[in-house]
Amino acid sequence: MRDIIIFLGPPGAGKGTQAKQLSTDKKFCHISTGEMLRAAVATGNELGMRVKSVLDSGQLVSDDLMIELVKQRMRETDCREGVILDGFPRTVVQAEALNKSLASSSEKITAVIMFEVLEDTVRERLSDRAKKEGRSDDSAEVQLERIRVYQTKTAPLIDFYKKSGQLQAVSAAAEIPEVYKLLKAALKY
Ligand code: AMP
Repeated sequence: MRDIIIFLGPPGAGKGTQAKQLSTDKKFCHISTGEMLRAAVATGNELGMRVKSVLDSGQLVSDDLMIELVKQRMRETDCREGVILDGFPRTVVQAEALNKSLASSSEKITAVIMFEVLEDTVRERLSDRAKKEGRSDDSAEVQLERIRVYQTKTAPLIDFYKKSGQLQAVSAAAEIPEVYKLLKAALKY
């Protein structure tokens, strides 16, 4: 059975960086819903334009669209060995839909990793990234909104997965290689 790993944590915790490394090492697919959405925006079509206005506001894209996108992506061949979900689920509705979808294919979540980091560190990392990558949703104002949305909509998933006994915390405060070591230890890889 393939491994299915969920990465949870605030924007700027370093989920994407850790996911890229782990997906390369383990030959798992890396499903970054944020990157999928930014790719949709880049096409410039009508759906892309609608997605762009949501991203630029710091709010979340609709659960229905996200659930459909992720389900389809998980069926692709590069996800055969394992899946890293980076940025999904982001709401309890998405988490429940994922559980239902996995149950229907007799699969289950291998682990949920919570990347723990202080809010000040998150802000520093986001403003660094804004300078380097120039993401339109990394402006100071939108950053604050994304942190707020994380706290209200996504943080409840910590309890959701704690209750199911699947949550493991990893400190994401250290440098990238150190966090990667902690991550692999938590996953027993
Ligand atoms: P990220 O790159 O993961 O920080 O995501 C960037 C933006 O994409 C978020 O601020 C949301 O607007 C949107 N997004 C990413 N993943 C999801 C999701 N699972 N549900 C809803 N919106 C999402």
